[in-house]
Amino acid sequence: MSKKVIMVTGGSGLVGKSMQKVIKEENPADEEWIFLSSKDADLLDSQSTSAVFEKYKPTHVIHLAALVGGLYRHLGQNLEMMRLNLRINDHVLEACREHKCQKVVSCMSTCIFPDETTYPIEESMLHSGPPHNSNCGYAYAKRMIDVANHLYARDHGMQCTGVIPTNIYGPFDNFSLADSHVLPGLVHKCYLAQKENKPFVISGTGTPRRQFIFSEDLARLIVWTLRDYPEIDPILLSVSEDEEISIKELAELIAEAYDFKGEIIYDASKSDGQFKKTTTNKKLRSYLPDYKFKSIKDGIQETVDWFKASYPNVRL
Ligand code: NDP
Repeated sequence: MSKKVIMVTGGSGLVGKSMQKVIKEENPADEEWIFLSSKDADLLDSQSTSAVFEKYKPTHVIHLAALVGGLYRHLGQNLEMMRLNLRINDHVLEACREHKCQKVVSCMSTCIFPDETTYPIEESMLHSGPPHNSNCGYAYAKRMIDVANHLYARDHGMQCTGVIPTNIYGPFDNFSLADSHVLPGLVHKCYLAQKENKPFVISGTGTPRRQFIFSEDLARLIVWTLRDYPEIDPILLSVSEDEEISIKELAELIAEAYDFKGEIIYDASKSDGQFKKTTTNKKLRSYLPDYKFKSIKDGIQETVDWFKASYPNVRL
């Protein structure tokens, strides 16, 4: 049997780095893995995208690369997030078609679901209403991946699907104070609060609720999706509904991981974003009933330990 050549776009990001670790541990004999960063190809450029496909001739693709950011980046750059992500996704999926890739798994996000919805959110609701205004550019660009997957499957017989992760966290995240996601932003803030002996200030009221998935769990589940998930319809990759926590609980877990004893303050003048986005992992559980996720407490401790050991050589 010939070796599969699996190319991962966004291989240098939060999820990509964890996937590198998972694959290194597995060391699969019948698969060659290539992890790309923007230095290998600028996926905003169609020629650069074609060239990297020509170079590695992938038989399978995991498409992680995206312009990603937290609430405050989205609020400021909605149009830009739509245009750039649409362009990257179009270049990658079309190159997969041209190169007759056997399977393509692309990454979406739970923050692209309709704003007004019933809970828990499930895969079939993806297109059933407009997304939250705060990130509509990114959301519509990501939803188009699902539209494209179905059209590539219908018109070209391509086996392509999408994964929909909840908030991801772990080592190698973007810990910028200005445009990161909530968890890495708080990991950085608490580090500084402890170092400078100042209060740990949380943007917003602390009441919104979120599900978080550790990047290594997500990496394992995406690899499983590539190898074994048979559908074109996307699959939510998430911890269960009862593992959703408030931002306040999250801040307290981060403070505990640092052994931070100072004051925790909530700045209610800052935007909270969507109150909750509870998703069900019923579909995932129908395929993998026994998969065991890392607990949020252990995952945060690992992330904080990594951040402390790596600072200031982290993405800021
Ligand atoms: P990161 O921001 O950590 O990494 C982004 C990756 O995309 C990097 O490898 C980056 O390369 C690459 N990239 C960005 N622009 C280009 C470009 N023009 N050409 C080539 N490569 C490019 O992202 P994550 O690992 O956090 O996210 C992975 C996927 O998961 C994304 O599709 C994202 O939308 C999705 N997602 C993320 C969530 C989260 O909480 N982080 C939540 C839900 C979904 P380089 O390192 O060279 O810049």
